[in-house]
Amino acid sequence: MAYFQSKPVAGRHFLQIPGPTNVPDRVLRAMDNPTMDHRGPDFGLFGKALLEKIRHVFKTTSHVVIYPASGTGAWEAALTNTLSPGDRVLMCETGWFAHLWHEMAGRLGIVADFVKTDWRRGADVAQIEQRLREDKAHAIKAVCVVHNETSTGCTSRIDEVRRAMDAAGHPALLLVDTISSLGSIDYRHDEWGVDVTVAGSQKGLMLPPGLSFNAVSAKALKASETARLPRSFWDWKPMLAANATGYFPYTPATNLLYGLDAAVDMLLEEGLDNVFARHDRHAEATRRAVRHWGFEIQCAEPRHYSSSLTAVRLPEGHSANALRATILERHNMSLGNGLGQLNDRVFRIGHLGDFGDLQLIGTLGGVEMGLRAAGVPHQPGGVQAAMDYLSGNA
Ligand SMILES: *Cc1c(COP(=O)(O)O)cnc(C)c1O
Repeated sequence: MAYFQSKPVAGRHFLQIPGPTNVPDRVLRAMDNPTMDHRGPDFGLFGKALLEKIRHVFKTTSHVVIYPASGTGAWEAALTNTLSPGDRVLMCETGWFAHLWHEMAGRLGIVADFVKTDWRRGADVAQIEQRLREDKAHAIKAVCVVHNETSTGCTSRIDEVRRAMDAAGHPALLLVDTISSLGSIDYRHDEWGVDVTVAGSQKGLMLPPGLSFNAVSAKALKASETARLPRSFWDWKPMLAANATGYFPYTPATNLLYGLDAAVDMLLEEGLDNVFARHDRHAEATRRAVRHWGFEIQCAEPRHYSSSLTAVRLPEGHSANALRATILERHNMSLGNGLGQLNDRVFRIGHLGDFGDLQLIGTLGGVEMGLRAAGVPHQPGGVQAAMDYLSGNA
């Protein structure tokens, strides 16, 4: 049973939205410990070890800042610590989350150019390179990209964005949102020369909502010394000063940090490469089911397929929201809704986080039964297609 459920339903709820994700029992048990004194001697030891360990997940040797906030807070921290009022940035309109980050930049007094896509692929790397080449005066201070666009199921190629910036010989900072990719899809903060990586707790990191992160390069740290956007709660400086001894400048979300400690252990014990391969495999099985049913995948560029979620387009005249409501009612499973211009056009299957083959088959089974119940025309047997793939690729 769920903690709060208006109607009693037996069996475990399937939380197959692309975040928050299912929280593993080991993480729940870790959080179920007494809160400790965050100024006491044990906390410093715990905090220092955790701040060190979390770097592996970002593939960085630099600082990782942890906020008691949702991902949106870490977006704001990335912008306000590195930029000044009136600064120009280049953002990429990959979907709804890119749109929200762009709106935030505007509200903060940043002037953001928005490179368009059709919401069916990742960031347009050629466009980024061209805009940077045109900016001979280096007025653009940062390039902002959402790594995995959770509204569309398209993953941008950050390695290619980095190469485009280098090819243009442009010194802009690179800010990347990995809220729905970190711990699910290969990501390399240092190797790809990312300056600020933004992350959140409730997706690939398998935690409840409530923590968010900035991984900070030396170049970003330097930019923060002269960045003039107002900031207080988000300021890296007092955070890093306290973090040096394992402490925080204000009360950290102690029990979520216990959970984070367990979640990072789980990721590192499985091995990050194995974690990524598991997500790739589940994503491919999902796409096979979707194609078998006869539906289009929202991502139209196979090189940009997301391994953490799949957005599925329903045929014209069929409501994705009605389908989701049917599946919730009959099978106690939540699926992601279409966001922004995709509202009611797509539904999203989250296959990230603490997730195994049988959970995927249960998820796809719920979708296939829901399609039938909701009267959406489809070719039955998508679940079989997924099982065939999983069995042949153990
Ligand atoms: C979920 C998500 C966000 C928003 O994070 P919140 O924790 O809801 O503030 C931002 N960007 C991406 C890519 C996301 O998936």
